[in-house]
Amino acid sequence: MKLIENVREMQQYSESLRLSGKRLAVVPTMGALHNGHLALVRLAKRHADVVVMTIFVNPLQFAPTEDFSRYPRPFERDKALAASEGVDVLFHPQLNELYAEQFETFVALDHISQKLEGKIRPTHFRGVATVVSKLFNITKPHIAVFGEKDAQQLMLVRKMVRDLNFDIEIIPAPIEREADGLAMSSRNAYLSPEERRAATALFQALVLAEKKIRSGERNAEAVCAYTLNQITSATLLAKPDYAAIVRTDDFEEAVTLQEGTEYFLLLAVRFGNVRLLDNCRFVV
Ligand code: AMP
Repeated sequence: MKLIENVREMQQYSESLRLSGKRLAVVPTMGALHNGHLALVRLAKRHADVVVMTIFVNPLQFAPTEDFSRYPRPFERDKALAASEGVDVLFHPQLNELYAEQFETFVALDHISQKLEGKIRPTHFRGVATVVSKLFNITKPHIAVFGEKDAQQLMLVRKMVRDLNFDIEIIPAPIEREADGLAMSSRNAYLSPEERRAATALFQALVLAEKKIRSGERNAEAVCAYTLNQITSATLLAKPDYAAIVRTDDFEEAVTLQEGTEYFLLLAVRFGNVRLLDNCRFVV
């Protein structure tokens, strides 16, 4: 595996691969790799000749009150995991390599950035869209793989690629879970043992909500209330931010679930200082 830390070197390397006819995939991450990230790499390998993984903890997507400085950065472990999964190039820039002192250009999506996660984290998606644009310009991929775990981020990237005409195919990857159903996340490491046990309530509530929909419930608000109730009655440690049902094609919130339409049921729930996201995708 080739390690690159410099923007110009990454651009030149990608350019040479493209000129030699290779199909490039990029898998953007913030490191602290787990099997969810590695599943993205496995999917990327099925679609491309060369897989570039990026590891960069992007300060722009953290609010001042959030965990940017304490975000885990186990780089040697990440490097070994990426290599063993068959990553061809690991792009790992330092902070000042991506953001020069007078950096002042941002990519912002008006509508999708403001709702759900964006309501609670108002500058988050501007940070995501900006860094993803930069990583696309630096790694020059044909395809990019993003996890459905961050469903709103996936939709944001899809819209940005369409709106700004990036010539890149976005491939979604399903959520990887622990044996007890908890969605894998670098932030799970922050959970206390008690919170970790309680956090399985999210997946269990999603499974029950799907059952409720299958048994005929079509009122989106009722499904969301039921889902949150399942969580808060399973554990006192859970403090839900929201449950919402959105169409997968445009991320608009549903009122009445329509037959033949695909939706995400999205959850954001706090356990102490840790915010966990989870969701399930279903067709009515
Ligand atoms: P992060 O390092 O948290 O920024 O995540 C990098 C990429 O991995 C994003 O596209 C995430 O959606 C994806 N990802 C994170 N956790 C999971 C998971 N449990 N299953 C699948 N993809 C994931």
